[in-house]
Amino acid sequence: MMEIIKTNDCKMKICVYCASSSKIDSSFFDATEKLAIEFVKENIEIVYGGGATGLMGKLADTIIEHGGKIKGIMPKFMNEVEWAHKGVTDFELTETMHERKAKFLVNIDGVVTLPGGSGTLEELLETISLKRLGLFTKPIVILNTNGYYDSLRQMLQNCVSENFMHEKHLEMWTFVDDPEQVIPALRNSTIWDKAAINFAVNK
Ligand code: AMP
Repeated sequence: MMEIIKTNDCKMKICVYCASSSKIDSSFFDATEKLAIEFVKENIEIVYGGGATGLMGKLADTIIEHGGKIKGIMPKFMNEVEWAHKGVTDFELTETMHERKAKFLVNIDGVVTLPGGSGTLEELLETISLKRLGLFTKPIVILNTNGYYDSLRQMLQNCVSENFMHEKHLEMWTFVDDPEQVIPALRNSTIWDKAAINFAVNK
């Protein structure tokens, strides 16, 4: 095991949403590995979907390999079909997908979204909607490896330009291109609070 010197004692807990697919370009795995190493270096604890495949698997494998902390949250039915990562010892099983999504956001300091499919998009968009209502106030950082999320960024921009959302809502998330930019973006995000409910609707 390659030993990593941990540079930060401050405890941060971050939720990561990412792909279950393994049939994706190797560059997505490389970016996930780099980010996972940054998390361990900074002593950041991770909460994720508990999977063993795709970017979820890469994230967990790398964090475990380097001695970091990771917790999986998964509905029971996924565990029953053996989707859970066998090396993740801290595991919470939920009754439903909805309960799982709610638990992802308890006592965390931010959300990071890596490339993924409908599951990842659903998790990200629900978190953005909760933040818009002031029910979730922590930073949301989206890792745009290879420009994968350019079309999502454009769609969110369209929501604002067509007045479906307020211009201030653009401050709810940060897109970054490289894994090294993720933790600085989490630390430098615009402060958000429950008062967001006051401009949630564009009247
Ligand atoms: P996606 O981005 O569509 O791959 O979705 C990732 C999310 O899909 C996870 O948080 C899970 O809700 C679910 N998921 C789909 N396949 C798996 C799997 N093999 N293991 C664990 N979770 C999975």
